Amino acid sequence: PYTLGPKISNWDEQRRVWNERNPMQNVTRNGKPKILLVSGSQPGPCGNPMGDFYHLKYLKNRIDYARLHGMEFFYNVATFQKEMNSFWAKLPLLRNLMLNHPETEWIWWMDSDAIFTDMTFEVDLERYVGKNIVIHGFNDLLFEQHKWLGLNTGSFLLRNCQWSLDLLDAWAPYGPSGEVRMNAGKMLTAKLVDRPAFEADDQSALVYLMLFGDPQWRGKLFLEWAFYLHGYWKFVVYNYENVMAKHKPGFGDDRWPFVTHFVGCKPCQYAVTGEVQECFKQMERAFNFADNQVLGKYGYAHRSLATWKTVKVREDTNDPLGLYKAHKNPQDTPTLK
Ligand code: UDP
Ligand code: MN
Repeated sequence: PYTLGPKISNWDEQRRVWNERNPMQNVTRNGKPKILLVSGSQPGPCGNPMGDFYHLKYLKNRIDYARLHGMEFFYNVATFQKEMNSFWAKLPLLRNLMLNHPETEWIWWMDSDAIFTDMTFEVDLERYVGKNIVIHGFNDLLFEQHKWLGLNTGSFLLRNCQWSLDLLDAWAPYGPSGEVRMNAGKMLTAKLVDRPAFEADDQSALVYLMLFGDPQWRGKLFLEWAFYLHGYWKFVVYNYENVMAKHKPGFGDDRWPFVTHFVGCKPCQYAVTGEVQECFKQMERAFNFADNQVLGKYGYAHRSLATWKTVKVREDTNDPLGLYKAHKNPQDTPTLK
C-alpha cells in the first residue's frame, strides 16, 4: 500500500538529539520557537493567466507577512509524489519539511488562494501548548453536526513532532490519485454531512479522522475560532470598507480578518464563469486591502480597494526618520545628540 516514506517512530528523540548538537538553531532572533511558513502551487502554468497573476501577488503577500514577523518562508511548486497531486501535494511536502527542518517547531501551511489580510496580527503560540495541530473550525459544526466544512485545511499549523508524522501517515492513504482517491471520496460523501460527490480531498479526510479515527487525533487538535486563521471570502470581503472605517489592523477577527481564503474559486482553471469573475474582483480587493498595510510605511496607498493603482499619501521630506521634527527648521540643526 501507499506510504509517504520509511516509517519513523522516534522522531521526537531524533529531533531532540539534533537540537542538542546544534544549539540555538531552534529559536528566532527574539528567542521564540521557529515557525516555517509554507505555501505552494502547481508545477505548470495556470489554465487562466489571471490565476498566475494572483499567485504572484499572493506570494508577495506571504513574503511581506513573513518578513514583518521574522518567519522563514518556503514556496513549493514541485509535486514530491506523483500520486499526491492537487490538494494532496501538501502532505508529502509537510513531512519532508518537518524531517529536513528539525530546528523548526511549527510548520504553517497556507493555500495559494489564501491571503493575509491583517498584516499586524500575530498568532499567540502560548495558546497551543499541548496541542499539535491548529485549524480554523467550529466545535458544533465539526463534532455535533459532522459537516465536511467543520474545519478548513487552507491555513493550519502543524507541530514538528512524532504525532504529526503519525497523523500524516494516517491521513495520506485517502489521497493517492485514481481508484483509491475516487473510492475514498464515495466513503467521505456517505459519512460527512453536506459533502458533494467528488474524489477524496485532504480536508474531508482530516474531518473523517477527527470524527471517526483514533481518539489521539482529536486529543491534540486545537480548533481555532477566536480569529480568522482561515476566513471564508464570502463572509469577509464585503466588509473591508466597513472594517477600515471602524477599526485598525491587529485584531484578526471580524474587526479586521486575519486571513481571507478564496475557497472554491479555482482561479487557475481554464473555465471562467460569472462566479470566477467575482472571485477575481474580490481577490484584487483582498490584495489591495492587505497591501495598503504594507505600502503605508513607504508613503503610498491604493486609490481604492478596487484598483492596483496607487497614490502618494505622504509628502517626501528631508527628515525621513523624523529625527529633527521637534525643530522648526531641520537645516538649522545639523548635529544630533
Ligand atoms: N496545491 C499545490 N500543488 C498543486 C495543486 C494545489 O500545492 O499541484 C495547493 C495550492 O496551494 C492550493 C491547495 O493545494 O491552494 C488547495 O487547493 P484549492 O485551494 O484549489 O482548494 P480549495 O481551497 O478551493 O478547497
Ligand atoms: Mn484554497
